Amino acid sequence: MGLSPRKNTTDDGEQGSGMKKKLASRRGVNRAVALVLVLVLVLAVVISIPVYLSYKKKADQFSCTVALKKAQDMLDVEFLWNYELGHDEALRVVERAKWEMDALCPAGGDYYLVDRPESDQKFRVTCGIHEKDTYLRTRLNAAHTLELLNEALAGCARRGIDVPEEGFTFLVNSKELPVVRLEEPVDLRWGTDASIDYEGIVSFFTLAEDGSVAWFVYADENHASVYRSGNDWIGDAWEK
Ligand SMILES: [Zn+2]
Repeated sequence: MGLSPRKNTTDDGEQGSGMKKKLASRRGVNRAVALVLVLVLVLAVVISIPVYLSYKKKADQFSCTVALKKAQDMLDVEFLWNYELGHDEALRVVERAKWEMDALCPAGGDYYLVDRPESDQKFRVTCGIHEKDTYLRTRLNAAHTLELLNEALAGCARRGIDVPEEGFTFLVNSKELPVVRLEEPVDLRWGTDASIDYEGIVSFFTLAEDGSVAWFVYADENHASVYRSGNDWIGDAWEK
């Protein structure tokens, strides 16, 4: 008798709208918390990527150094047995070391043998990504790329087909490198030279009339190695 149904309804309505408001504000708080969490997560990822990449770079460098050391040890032991060990035999030893360790460089660097005339050990094995001497590294990668180019040109001649207008793409240090054919040499000083539209590692060549390489350049962010037919390697490794 005391409570009228109408009053009850009004109370319920007030309680209901209060509850709704509470729920709505709680939902708003939840949404804000979620947003902050997402932002924190995004921030954490953004910050951790460069940290991870720099860690990975250091870890790769370390693993590469350890693997090359083992390959060098094998090479040095082989050299004790065979003092006349030639370049090709030495390469086979390094190939065996690579096979035993699955890979020499975790970053996919090509490996090269550097002559050491001043040392008892004739060769030093090094990596196209992790060699510390940037001048030498550029030259080794350049010489390797030129070798691939000469092989590709010889392949065209053998099959009697034209050299592609655009040039070739080779795998150098496990990355695709376009080796672009030009009509004229360009005045290139290093890979990130502002006077050309290319950045990073670049390579160009021109052909002589007989189809051989007349001019070739391989440039990275540090140096440019230039080859001219008849003069061999010239004007390479400009410092910035
Ligand atoms: Zn390496």
